[in-house]
Amino acid sequence: MRPSPALLPAAPEDLRRALLAWYDGARRVLPWRAQAGETADPWAVLVSEIMLQQTTVATVTPRFADFLARFPTPAAMAAAPLDDVLHAWQGLGYYRRARSLHAAASAIVERHAGRLPDSLDTLAELPGIGAYTAAAVAAIAFGRGVVPIDGNVARVLARLLAHDAPLSPTKAEFRPAAAALAAPERAADLAQALMELGALVCTPRRPACAACPWGFACRAKAQGQAAELPGKSKKPERPTRYATAMLIEDGRGRLCFKKRPDTGLLAGLIELPTGPLRDRPFASEAALVAGLPAAHWVPLPGGVRHVFTHFALEVVLVEGRPAVPIEGGFFHGRDRLFELALPTLTKKLLRHAGVAV
Ligand code: SF4
Repeated sequence: MRPSPALLPAAPEDLRRALLAWYDGARRVLPWRAQAGETADPWAVLVSEIMLQQTTVATVTPRFADFLARFPTPAAMAAAPLDDVLHAWQGLGYYRRARSLHAAASAIVERHAGRLPDSLDTLAELPGIGAYTAAAVAAIAFGRGVVPIDGNVARVLARLLAHDAPLSPTKAEFRPAAAALAAPERAADLAQALMELGALVCTPRRPACAACPWGFACRAKAQGQAAELPGKSKKPERPTRYATAMLIEDGRGRLCFKKRPDTGLLAGLIELPTGPLRDRPFASEAALVAGLPAAHWVPLPGGVRHVFTHFALEVVLVEGRPAVPIEGGFFHGRDRLFELALPTLTKKLLRHAGVAV
């Protein structure tokens, strides 16, 4: 059943008309966005939507064209080893997304002859494609009348409706309003206009209500509450963990690396061999190297801190002399480090040790 337009503070057609008129003048030129009148490449839309999750437009913009040139179609990505995709993803973080994209590309080739399916439900059946991404591709690439709800869109809708509770993880509370707003006409532009409004006008801290095309209807603006909404949820505390990483060089100046397991944190990436994560700082040099293979370990002064989503990690580097064998480890030339899919933490550690990367 179609949700009642009465959910919205103005007629949906008036909200759409005002938003699209604003978008026609304000839309940014972005490497993944089709120009007015052009049809979007569905694969490019999928790649961009996955890249833009948890990563800013400024970070994705200079990377997108090269990545798409490397993997121009689902078939090209499906034919590539996962390691190549992880390698090309370096610097974008949240590598789980690269794995999802690779899995989705394989499924598109196997189930859909290499072409993205054009229905919301079939898109949502692809591995690693959540409700938001499926809706975004359905709307932007195939003109389906759905409004995808990401963090930006949820914030705009929360303010439009004066919804003062913190956003839920799924943002499902905004589905009725998004469905009331959706329409098949200019569906791709409507979805992108709403995202653009959240990015450019209805920003988290200082919404520019005076310049907003929805100012005539917005309940948060009318109540003088725009910047306070949506309600803030208490951020969970981020604990700090501690670890020791090993810098081991063989007689040819090559460094020892190890591939991480295929599941879990930084899955499948290459790192310096690292001891187990601990909950407390190391109390002494002896504690630092306890449990590491027997060698003469020399700690490097200072350490490296890296913040993951759920915890921060402080790592001390110890240099092993002479080189000790590490189970599952392999040596790789310093001058060819670009060949390895190194996460940011490993690059920080290498730079801390004076290795150019
Ligand atoms: S009027 Fe202000 S709070 Fe309301 S949608 Fe526009 S920018 Fe956001």
